[in-house]
Parts: sequence; C-alpha cells; structure tokens
Amino acid sequence: MQKLNLVWLRNDLRLLDNAVLCSALKHAEKSGAAVLVLYIATPETWALHDMAAIKQDLLRRRVVQLQQELTELALPMLAIEGGSYQQVTEIFSTLCQQFELNVFVQAEYELREQQRDSAVEHLVQQHNGQFIRFDTQCIMSPGDIKTQQGDIYKVFTPFKRTWLAKLREEGVHCYGRPKKISQPKLELPDFLPLKDGDGSSADWEVAESGVLELMRRFCREKVADYHQQRDFPAQDGTSRLSAYLAIGVISAAQCVARLQLEAGEAWSEDKSGAGVWLSELIWREFYKHILVAYPQLIKHQPFQHETAGIRWHNNKQLFDAWCNGNTGYPIVDAAMRQLNQTGWMHNRLRMIAASFLVKDLHIDWRWGERYFMSKLIDGDFAANNGGWQWAASTGTDAAPYFRIFNPVTQSERFDPKGDFIRLYVPELSKFTGKTIHWPHAQPLSAYPKPIVDHAVARKQTLELFAEVKKTH
Ligand code: FAD
Repeated sequence: MQKLNLVWLRNDLRLLDNAVLCSALKHAEKSGAAVLVLYIATPETWALHDMAAIKQDLLRRRVVQLQQELTELALPMLAIEGGSYQQVTEIFSTLCQQFELNVFVQAEYELREQQRDSAVEHLVQQHNGQFIRFDTQCIMSPGDIKTQQGDIYKVFTPFKRTWLAKLREEGVHCYGRPKKISQPKLELPDFLPLKDGDGSSADWEVAESGVLELMRRFCREKVADYHQQRDFPAQDGTSRLSAYLAIGVISAAQCVARLQLEAGEAWSEDKSGAGVWLSELIWREFYKHILVAYPQLIKHQPFQHETAGIRWHNNKQLFDAWCNGNTGYPIVDAAMRQLNQTGWMHNRLRMIAASFLVKDLHIDWRWGERYFMSKLIDGDFAANNGGWQWAASTGTDAAPYFRIFNPVTQSERFDPKGDFIRLYVPELSKFTGKTIHWPHAQPLSAYPKPIVDHAVARKQTLELFAEVKKTH
C-alpha cells in the first residue's frame, strides 16, 4: 500500500506559518510518504452550528484559492463535499482501504469537532496509522498559561500578564514557506468535488498574500491609533481581520510577529495602540483557553452556574424586532442592520446589541449567541460565547450584572455625530446633532417606537439577577 501523509485542513487554511503542513512534509521526507492536502466541506454539520452563509462562502472561496496557491509547491489538494461529520468518517474509511495513512491536523476544541476527530483517530489507528494533532490555534496552547498554583486563570488581566511574560521569554515563532517537493503521483478514489459557494462573501479578500498585506498595512499604518479609534464604529479603526483569523488564512503568531516588527517597543506598552491591539489578540486566546478548561461552555452552559436559573422572559416578538433592527433604539438598530447586511459588526456594537438583548429585552443570551453565529462572517465559538457571556454577566471575568449599558448614552459617546447610525438607518438620515440618538421627541412616521423603556427594563434586570444571586 502507498504511504500517504494527509494534511487535513479545517480552520488553518494557509500556506505560511502552517505547522501541520510543515510537519507532514518533514515527516514525508524521511518516510518517503506522498503528501496530500485535504479539505472536506460539511454543510449539514455547519447548519447544526448555525454557521452563517457568508462564512460558508468565504470558506469555499478560500479553499479554491488555496488549491491554486498549493500548485506552486506542486502539492495536490483534494477539496470535497462531506455532508456531515458522520460522512467524514466514511471518507476516511475509504482512504484507509487504499493508503497507509498518517493524518496531520490542527486541534479543534468544540464538541462535535472533538467527537469527529476521535472517531477518525480511532479508525486511522485501527489501520495502524497515526492521527497527529497540533495545538496551533493560539500562540500559547490551552493549558500552558497557569497560575503559580497550577490553576487555570479565570480572570483576564493576570492571564494576560503571564501570557506576556511567556511571550517575552520565548518570543513568537512562525513557520516559513514549505519547500517544493517532488513526489509520486496519487491515484485517488472518487469523491464528490467541492461545490461553489453563493458568492455572498465576494467583497472579502481570499488570497493569502492579499490578507497578509491587509494585516501588514494595519500594523504599519493604523495600529498606532488603535486605542483611540477602536471604539467608534463610524471610523475604520480596527483591523477587520477576525474572519481570517477564524478560518486561519492568517495566524495570531503572524499578527504578533508583524506587530513587533512595525511597532518597535510600543507592542509591550499597555496603553499604546499596539499594546491594546495585542490585548485583543490575547482575549482571543483567553476565551479559547477557558473553553478547553471548562467543557460546560462547549454545551452553552453559563460559566457562573447560578445564572442558569435566571428566568428570562424570552418574548419572541421582541427578539424578532432586535434581529431585524427595529427596536426603536437607533444605535442598536444600526448595529443589527450592519450585521444583517454585511455579516460583520463592530466590537463596540456587539457589546451594545448583546447587552440590549439580555438586559433590556430579558432574552436568554443563547438566543443572541445563535443569531450572531448565523450571521457573522467571523463566527467563532469561543469568542462569540465569551462575548455573549461577558455581556450577559454570566461568564468568566464578565461585566458585573449591575453594570447595564444605557443604549442612548453609549450612542452619544461612541457615535457622537450619528454618522454610523445614518449609514444603516435611512429613516434617520435627516437627523443631525444629539436628536439622532433619541429621535422620539420629534414626530416620526417611518421609524419604530422604542419597544421597551430602558429605565424600567434596567430595574427588571436587577431583579432577575437578584433572584438567583440571593439563593446562592
Ligand atoms: P480588532 O479590534 O482588530 O482585533 C484583532 C483581533 O483580535 C480580532 O480580529 C479577533 O480575532 C480578536 N479579538 C478582538 N476582540 C476580541 C474579543 N473581545 N474576544 C475575542 N477575540 C477578540 N470575535 C470573533 O472573532 N468571532 C465571533 O464570533 C465574535 N463574537 C462576538 C460576540 C460578542 C457578543 C462580542 C461582544 C464580541 C464578539 N467577538 C467575536 C469579538 C470582537 O467583537 C471581534 O473579534 C472584533 O469585532 C472583530 O473585528 P476586528 O477584526 O476588526 O478586531
């Protein structure tokens, strides 16, 4: 049987800084195995994950592009339709009949992904092959950042301190471009070829070189002002790299290496633009570490157990108004319309919209978590769950439950001239000055009336939390 090192890519769709690919090639040099890169689309399981159509499209477009990029290395890439994770196992079963297989993958931390990988690992091992996982989603692997007592950090600031100390000690390492190899021709079984996407992500770059250039340009030209601009949705002040980090067109290590190169010592200063941007990349790692350490999160359970008892009102009509951007609160509506129209939402708005759903409408944060996932091009379980549990005050190191965003003052503060609101709420396009944040004093026909009174809703939230806090 022909020896084959299979590089099974999932959320690591890149050539550069790809430990999985480099290791499979290195191993093949010694063993004489052929190398094949594999991608399996699984829309049936994606649907169970509520994966947004725009993210599915980005994945498909990226895979096609990567197939071309790999031809430069003379590496074949098999891109196929697998339906569900169960069918993935059948695909591996077919491959195991034909090849002496070693499988190289980046570890994934979500529930169905772990079950899928265990099933494939078992199968490959039964055929005397190896299933080799690489912990490369983060710069510091989950479990590597611990307190002096050897515990997992539950609070971000000390986690960040230890994370930074380790970075200073070890530096950041990126794998280079893999070498071109010559290898025997492969006879592959017939599988269903990858289908085209729906084109909804067409505005998003998919070439690896293009995405790297976006990241480099951000580090060169914008990161210095990041701390001052990042909270204002009308400004183009953040990197907009989240979709690429989520599917691994670039790695966090590449971002940090470039940041250090461009920003000089500023990367290590807490209050510089570079330092604050690095903090956000560390939040990304924090939520992944927490997810691995507390498996209840993978099952959408709250981190703070007692909050599971909150009696959310879960009013479907209010939920629909929120989803459609018709709450009568301009900043919330503009945020939700940005999400619905573009598949992306600014971080400040994610916080405002999430807080509004939970603390003004009293709807279970999991409804919002699901809705965001179904729309976001950068949908990522750990970041989304972490963000929602933060906003709902159910998570680790979350906003305290009595700190409730006032959507109108948030709007005045972070969209002072209403420029962002005007972009997405055409009903308010003629409003200028302060009135845009609360236009209801003016006679308005087209714009919805506020669906709740914030002051009343706030009191009710405090009661909902008080009920569960006093019983614990
Ligand atoms: P930048 O500000 O340029 O930050 C750089 C990178 O750091 C981001 O690309 C992202 O990978 C990471 N990052 C930034 N902020 C956070 C954060 N708070 N938590 C974790 N990682 C962060 N981010 C996702 O990638 N996917 C999600 O599904 C997601 N859902 C969220 C849901 C809620 C309710 C909230 C409050 C936040 C969520 N975030 C999510 C985090 C954050 O809003 C986005 O990462 C950010 O807006 C993406 O824009 P950017 O790439 O311009 O970020």
